[in-house]
Amino acid sequence: MTDLVNRQWLLARRPRGMISNEDFQWVERPVPEPVEGEVLIRNLFLSCDPTQRGWLSRDTYLPAVAVGEVVRSIAVGEVVRSRHPDFEPGQLVQGMFGWQDYVAAAPGTLSSPTPILPNVPIEAALGVLGLNGLTAYFGLLDIGRPEAGETVVVSGAAGATGSAAGQIAKIKGCRVIGIAGGADKCRYLTELGFDAAIDYKKEDVAARLRETCPKGIDIYFDNVGGAILEKALALLARRGRVVLCGAIAQYNDDAPAPGPRNLSQLIVRRGRMEGFIALDYMGRVSEAFPDLYAWVTEGKLKYRVDVLQGLENAPAALARLFTGENQGKQLVKIADRANQGA
Ligand code: NAP
Repeated sequence: MTDLVNRQWLLARRPRGMISNEDFQWVERPVPEPVEGEVLIRNLFLSCDPTQRGWLSRDTYLPAVAVGEVVRSIAVGEVVRSRHPDFEPGQLVQGMFGWQDYVAAAPGTLSSPTPILPNVPIEAALGVLGLNGLTAYFGLLDIGRPEAGETVVVSGAAGATGSAAGQIAKIKGCRVIGIAGGADKCRYLTELGFDAAIDYKKEDVAARLRETCPKGIDIYFDNVGGAILEKALALLARRGRVVLCGAIAQYNDDAPAPGPRNLSQLIVRRGRMEGFIALDYMGRVSEAFPDLYAWVTEGKLKYRVDVLQGLENAPAALARLFTGENQGKQLVKIADRANQGA
């Protein structure tokens, strides 16, 4: 491995606002040597997740990435050398492997949220059958607790998590309204079976919510926060639930934005608003995975992936989540599998 290079993106400074290449530093270093008990992994795909923006700036549910450290990222890689009895070359593993070609890691960091089955594309293992599917599943079912016939509104609805949440709500017999940016994404939502789609960039969201949710919103699955959250709260049905999954509209803010002005709606409507972090559900993956897998295989849970090529494009790929350029799960492919048969 000594003749190979490990290309890495380090955090150069704490970003302000939208990330740019200048926030990161490209370095090329020797490939690490795994010590006893570790494996050497070559990253194949990097997962782009909005939460990475928070990790670059501040302590959240995980400590902030330190300046000078490799940028933290979920990835799927292939074991290329093993000094651990449970792993062999060719095996696929998922973990927080970072924006780099190679990582030497011990088993504790190799935990895959979901199994990477031989017939599951890596792209799905990083999205609908991985973190995003699990987030949608537990956020909707555990926190939202939908009942057939209820009205569910999902923001960020055309994205990796939102599209899964909306489709699971449909599977559970709900009426589902999706909010997304642009006509193409709204068309995609209707193709997925959503009952209505609202283009927040062009339409009057409050007016369209009133029109599409005449009996109010039973569950608001929130991926964006900010102004849209306030508009959804205004229409909460009695005993409505607000699932706080994400607040991407605020992740680039340097200071916390003022909260929704109408939180008292929760009192009037006897509502409940609850946030969650999918990592807390990793012990319950075996509850969700068979359902997600069956729905994907049966064509009831569709997904799309948006793959940029090349480690050099990792910052640009992450930025796409904040411009809305991504059409589904944003990934970066950085290498092909060496050992297809494993
Ligand atoms: P994604 O939805 O595939 O991509 C992000 C999307 O956010 C963009 O495509 C864009 O869609 C939308 N967006 C960006 N800026 C926006 C703004 N200012 N206002 C409204 N929409 C905006 O990404 P994802 O990975 O599935 O994540 C979606 C949300 O789920 C994020 O908030 C993320 O933090 C959250 N999440 C939470 C957990 C958890 O454990 N709680 C786990 C995973 C993800 P449009 O083109 O429609 O604007």
